[in-house]
Formats: sequence, structure tokens, C-alpha cells
Amino acid sequence: MILRPGATVGILGGGQLGRMLAMAALKIGLRCHIYAPEVEAPAYDAAHDCTIAAYEDEAALRKFAAGCELVTFEFENVPTATLAFLETLLPVRPNSRALARTQDRLTEKTFLRDLGLETAPFADVPDVGALARAVRDIGRPSILKTRRGGYDGKGQTMIREGSDLGAVHRALGAGPMILEGFVGFEREVSVIAARSLEGAVVSYDLCENEHERHILARTRVPARVSPALAPVARDLAERVLAGLDYVGVIGVELFVARSEDGEERLIVNEIAPRVHNSGHWTLEGAETSQFEQHMRAIAGWPLGSTTRRGVIEMRNLVGEEADDWRDILAEPDMSLHLYGKLHARPGRKMGHVTRVLRGA
Ligand code: AMP
Repeated sequence: MILRPGATVGILGGGQLGRMLAMAALKIGLRCHIYAPEVEAPAYDAAHDCTIAAYEDEAALRKFAAGCELVTFEFENVPTATLAFLETLLPVRPNSRALARTQDRLTEKTFLRDLGLETAPFADVPDVGALARAVRDIGRPSILKTRRGGYDGKGQTMIREGSDLGAVHRALGAGPMILEGFVGFEREVSVIAARSLEGAVVSYDLCENEHERHILARTRVPARVSPALAPVARDLAERVLAGLDYVGVIGVELFVARSEDGEERLIVNEIAPRVHNSGHWTLEGAETSQFEQHMRAIAGWPLGSTTRRGVIEMRNLVGEEADDWRDILAEPDMSLHLYGKLHARPGRKMGHVTRVLRGA
């Protein structure tokens, strides 16, 4: 099914990603209807219509579906059952199986391994007894993560020499978990890519990401890696997209490690089945932004050019960093984005700022 200009796209999730998706949709003549449980959310300002309801509310979902031609999501922790229910009513892109695979770190890592891609060594940890065995196999340091629900470093703890396994397991909620070997990486990078309804794939140049307190702080493009990694990253993204039968934009987070022979190699950390924070630079820095690209892909339209317009730096404005908005506006080469959030809690992404150094 291909959308016509003027059609309404439903978006599950009301965060800044939904806001920027809705703004991009407007540019190409599409409208958005945001569905989210929060009373206040950044995406509502940019939407044609909003539904404030729980993801489990079938009556509200039915009404929402009746007003949209197609549904997508901007938040990867939407219950899979919600997407599966909507799929009985209208097209959902990307599909609910792609979301289900990537929502659970164990099924995600298993999928990546089955595709022949390198990940950190990992083990299933259904209970505390399995944790002791997994630590024996994988060693220390290693990282214990909840299978579901973690983001920005939540739901994970490092296991070091002397860590009390029972206490760590309890502190993470004693639910299903995965243990990952610690990867001694040189850099963190990501590849943002899109797959069309016909299966065509485009990708943006590799982004280099720096985190502070587990939250993305800065992205620079191009990443400072060997040019030989570019086709490897593109091929990897293409395999992930095809393997998930995916339509839309995806973000694949990668570690760059160095083998004993001195060669750089890519290890997949995780898949974000949505537009990604490390792709925000594409708004000014690429011929088609990741947000417009996602809308084009799910609408069944031709994908846009991913050509980069210079050397780019993107910085997230986290918590009170956004209080500097006036100073940022005074800098002629800085492009400021604020998400309209009223309260600047510590760790909350309030906006971002992009600088494109032309011609480089
Ligand atoms: P995640 O929520 O899995 O993306 O992890 C958040 C951050 O923790 C990553 O961006 C890395 O900096 C770090 N991290 C996660 N898993 C590993 C690992 N297996 N080895 C080393 N660092 C990791």
C-alpha cells in the first residue's frame, strides 16, 4: 500500500523523535496523528491530531486506526501486542516482528549472531544460578543487562572482580537477563540506514558517538575510522534490514575494536528500530534527513539522497545544558533544536545543536 500526499500517518510515542518525524512529514504533505500515554509530550505540538491513551486501550487504538492510513512508532518499548493488534486493522511499518526481535536483548543478539554478524559474547541468564555459570564462561569484566526495557544505560550493571552476583541480580530486579562480555572498543559508531517498501536500501555515513553518563553527548560525522569500514557497515545494515523484513529507518549501534593484526572491525551492540539520536545531524547535514527518509520509506515512496553536506558535529543538550539557548543562537554556524519540554530534569534530552563545517 502506497500513501498519497495528504494521508495521515499514526505515530506511537510522543517524544522528540515523534516531533521531528511529524515536522518532516509536513514538509512532504503528510499529516501525523500521535498516540501516547503522556498528558504532555513533545510530539503533540507538531501533530495534526493526538490521542492520549494507554498502549493497551483497544477501544482507543481502534479509533486511532480508523483515522490513519498507516502506523509507525518512535519508541521501541511500545508493547508488541499493541502493534500486532494494529496490524489486524491497517499496515504497520516497520512490522511488529522486527520490534519484538529488537525489544529483547537475547532475541536481538541471537538474531545478529544467526546473520553471521559479530556481537559481544553473550549468555542467557534466566535466574541467579545461571548468572554464576555465565560469569564462569564469559569472565569478568562483563555486563549484566535486563532483557527488556533498558535505555540510556538503565537496566545494566558491570560485573567486576569481587562483585556480589546475588546483590547485582537483585538490584536489576531479578527478572530475565543477559550477560555480555565487556568489549574493549576504541570508539562507538552507528550506521543509520533505510529500507524501502520494494527492498531498496540507503545508508548514511558512519557516525562517531561519545556518551556521558550513558547518554549520547556528541556525534561527529564522518567517524574517524578507516575508509574500509564504510562498505562493511553498509553491508551489515543491509543484512539486518533484510533479515527483519524492515521498512523504514533503523539505527545500528556498533563498537569499533582492533584485532590482533591491527585491523579495525565492527561489533554490533544493538539495533534501534526507529530514527536514532545519532542521526539528528542529517536535518542540516544530509540531503534528506533521517526523519523525511523514514516517512518516505513507510509511505512507499522513493528514498532520498543520503549525501553529506560537510563535516558535522551534533551535541545533545541534556538537562540544564539547554539553558544556554541564547548563547547558542548567537553563534552564526550553530543550528539549535529545542524539543519544547517544560521541565529540565537531569539526564533529560531537551534539544540538540548541529554545526556543519562546509566543504570538508
Ligand atoms: P546499551 O544500552 O546496550 O546500548 O549500552 C549503553 C552503553 O554501555 C554503550 O553505548 C557502551 O558504551 C556500553 N556498553 C554496553 N554493552 C557493552 C559491552 N558489551 N562492552 C563494553 N561496553 C558496553
